[in-house]
Amino acid sequence: MSASSSLPPLSLVEAEALVAEGVAAGRLERGAAESLASSMERPAIREAIMAGAHESKLRHKGERVSVSRNVFIPLTNLCRDRCTYCGFAKQPDSPEAKTYTLDEVDAVVRDGVRVGCIEALMCLGDKPEVAYRSHREWLAAQGYASTVDHLVEACRVAFEGGMLPHTNAGLLSGEDMERLRPWNASMGLMLENTSQRLRERGRAHFHAPDKDPEKRLRMHAEAGELRIPFTSGILLGIGETGPERLDTLLAIRDLQDRYGHIQEVIVQPFHAKPETPMGGVASLADHEVVAWVALARLVLGGEMNLQAPPNLAPEILESLLRAGLNDWGGVSPLTLDFINPEAPWPELQELHECTALSGQRLVERLPIYPEWLERPEFFDPQVWDSLPRFANDEGLSRNSKLQSGEEAA
Ligand code: SF4
Repeated sequence: MSASSSLPPLSLVEAEALVAEGVAAGRLERGAAESLASSMERPAIREAIMAGAHESKLRHKGERVSVSRNVFIPLTNLCRDRCTYCGFAKQPDSPEAKTYTLDEVDAVVRDGVRVGCIEALMCLGDKPEVAYRSHREWLAAQGYASTVDHLVEACRVAFEGGMLPHTNAGLLSGEDMERLRPWNASMGLMLENTSQRLRERGRAHFHAPDKDPEKRLRMHAEAGELRIPFTSGILLGIGETGPERLDTLLAIRDLQDRYGHIQEVIVQPFHAKPETPMGGVASLADHEVVAWVALARLVLGGEMNLQAPPNLAPEILESLLRAGLNDWGGVSPLTLDFINPEAPWPELQELHECTALSGQRLVERLPIYPEWLERPEFFDPQVWDSLPRFANDEGLSRNSKLQSGEEAA
């Protein structure tokens, strides 16, 4: 996909010069990024973008590529929204509808602790009680007035059980995040895309009020004001254009400039789910995914932590390792990727080997990155006080043998 058909195509020499300027300056400005995106269809220009992105990553992040050993807890797969690509959300009468009790959360956490997992990823649908009376009644029977009440308790159980929660519960208010902060090391919300066009009739977010970009940007800003280490991300292939992808990356960069709380940015390709309205839509070609990861590195700059989920791109791990990423995200030895259950996680050993083949080194992190262990102001005191139990002297996972160069467990 071209970013803009109105821009003249770049020569390879021009592209290499723009990339070199961006790497030297620390990040690409909009005009240069638009020009490069518009010429991305040429393999030689993609190679130039990747080479610059990899150089920027090595300059700022060194040879490390991180991963977080986690358990994925889909607290509820009920959701009031109906994104046309989503295979996660279920109707309450579906046999696959599932809401975890606190005992079930506790059981997953115990299993995770046993195999060295530190991150409890709380991922769930958005405000299901607004749409479904049966869920309101279930919550009330447990003594909760809302999904957030239930979520706060689930995070408490995970934290007290010996893990560090990272919550991605869709759109939350500042007040909700304040309630979650004492039990969470970090939180997140995929920005996905800032295009209002995607909320038009017939498009991916028409039936998804929580995907209003203005509301999602506001939540990012509120997380910044609350000083919460925050994960954002862009979803590729849901009907957006190249310029809209750049707008989204630049919006995330602006938030980071204002608040300094964006701990990582995920570049995630959309995977079609056959049972959904977008089931017949083709995913982005592998080379486009790699090129957008590389361009994201150049736009976001060398300091940003950049992640691409390895289970969604198993054929291109080697290319991604040459495209500027420095993180594989959460990988679980126990639980599925419930958002993309068709895409199994790679073994840590496999990630270790392919990362080593690229001349880089896999390390295990917490649900926060090592640099955050120098920023107490970003944590509730009880979370801050707990971090030494999980981190070694470098701010990486105490539980892993990877840090010392041993084979993955
Ligand atoms: S908000 Fe999330 S869980 Fe809900 S329908 Fe959209 S993608 Fe699915």
